[in-house]
Amino acid sequence: MGSKYDVVVIGGGPAGYVAAIRAAQNGLRVACIDAWKNPDGKPALGGTCLNAGCIPSKALLESSELFHRAGHEFASHGIQVGKPVLDLAVMQSRKAAIVRQFSGGIRELFKANGVTSLAGHGYLLPANKIRYTPDGGEPELLEAEHVVLAAGSVPVELPFARFDGERIVDSRGALEFSAVPARLGVIGGGVIGLELGSVWQRLGAQTTVIEALDRFLFMADGQIARDAQRQFKKQGLDIRLGARVTETRSTAAGVAVSYEDERGRHSLEVDRLIVAVGRRPATEGLLDPLAGVQLAERGFVAVDAECRTTAANVWAVGDLVRGPMLAHKGSEEGVMVADLIAGRYGHVNYAAIPSVIYTAPEIAWVGQTEEQLKEASQSYKVGTFNFAASGRARAMEQAAGLVKVLADAATDRLLGVHIIGPMAGELIGEAVVAMEFEASAEDLQRTIHAHPTLSEAIHEAALSADRRALHAINH
Ligand code: FAD
Ligand code: NAD
Repeated sequence: MGSKYDVVVIGGGPAGYVAAIRAAQNGLRVACIDAWKNPDGKPALGGTCLNAGCIPSKALLESSELFHRAGHEFASHGIQVGKPVLDLAVMQSRKAAIVRQFSGGIRELFKANGVTSLAGHGYLLPANKIRYTPDGGEPELLEAEHVVLAAGSVPVELPFARFDGERIVDSRGALEFSAVPARLGVIGGGVIGLELGSVWQRLGAQTTVIEALDRFLFMADGQIARDAQRQFKKQGLDIRLGARVTETRSTAAGVAVSYEDERGRHSLEVDRLIVAVGRRPATEGLLDPLAGVQLAERGFVAVDAECRTTAANVWAVGDLVRGPMLAHKGSEEGVMVADLIAGRYGHVNYAAIPSVIYTAPEIAWVGQTEEQLKEASQSYKVGTFNFAASGRARAMEQAAGLVKVLADAATDRLLGVHIIGPMAGELIGEAVVAMEFEASAEDLQRTIHAHPTLSEAIHEAALSADRRALHAINH
């Protein structure tokens, strides 16, 4: 194997492996270096998303949701199953099997596309040289016309709640519990806190989420966030807002967490504590200072709109750069960069990136929130439709939540679509396509939606923006 490539990608997560595959499809000679190792010591492609993020968390969310529904919902359908019994070992091994299979799938895709897969560590040197250190081997020097940095991100650690892998864990540890903690604490009421908090709460943990901000789910539309907070509270999730953790201490039984809010100081004892207060770009041990790659605020690699760094022919994608830390955002950047390198057209529409929170009910949105439109003094109209009036949602026994459509008051162009309810993460796809095609609320109104489907709620919300909803009273 020669050590000269057209493209060397550092990082084999959804941003990096997709960039490598597309670059190879474009006829380029490509290598992808990835350092990920699973607890068995074996390298595994797919990065955080596949090995300790999107996929394992969704596997456990699905299993725990079924467990919960079997215990709480089946009876209302007339199905008596008795009290469901949890076999966590089987649940965990099912999750691990899905991850293993997909990681092997990327290996096969690399082979099929002719991408050279290099397990080990990559370090960018000046003049597009890369020092590659194989696992347990001597460093080698690689050369590349173009380098794509895709090293991803790592969890933020709090100085007063250090990860010990046992009682105080990050999201990776929280996916691997071998027993359901009786009392679970979560620092951070963001996406990870809510998803993983939900998993263990559904399996029986008494779960308390401690969130620093006063506003719940600050990044979501306010109306949707308020509905989510109400529904999670009803489910028994204890969410404490405006709460700043000041100290954690080991106790005989677990961890004592001290925090402050406007009412004063409080203490809480839990058996396990998940810290999920955000992630930071993984630039440590990646860049020679003379390589010319500058960092922006909060340690992200500085890039332009097309993911070029400040060094010639060095690109950066995914969690390493600005924008939402989402797998599909990173993958699209990988595709764009691989196409631009090959001299083709490449573009990412940052205004139409969907966000999904896989709780029950799911929360999903694309475009701007009502708060953002107000802030921008944009004139808009609002249409909403409650799933309570959706025949399909009723049949599914999941009729809580709503769809909210925001459109330009003057031009009718869609500005944002926000959903809380069953399969919101699937439903949002329609809104993403509509926004990608610069559709109006009227375009959605005139699109035929099958009956009875959940998607009719989007149709009705679009109608409601013009006070023309057919299955709700227009106010
Ligand atoms: P990563 O996936 O982090 O991959 C980077 C890879 O680079 C890793 O394998 C790392 O080992 C390797 N690497 C780092 N430095 C080097 C180096 N110097 N040399 C060689 N290799 C290196 N996003 C969603 O869109 N949907 C979800 O449902 C979702 N769920 C999530 C759940 C959890 C619990 C977590 C933690 C994250 C979740 N995310 C989700 C976020 C998603 O995982 C990230 O946005 C995504 O993985 C970023 O992709 P990436 O390729 O930029 O980086
Ligand atoms: P996040 O930014 O979503 O949430 C972190 C939360 O912690 C925020 O609400 C913040 O106010 C709070 N916080 C910060 N410091 C705190 C402190 N000291 N005490 C109490 N609260 C504090 O981050 P995350 O949940 O760690 O997730 C990391 C990234 O992973 C996110 O950017 C997210 O996009 C991605 N992710 C996505 C999905 C998905 O797409 N479904 C799932 C999981 C993770």
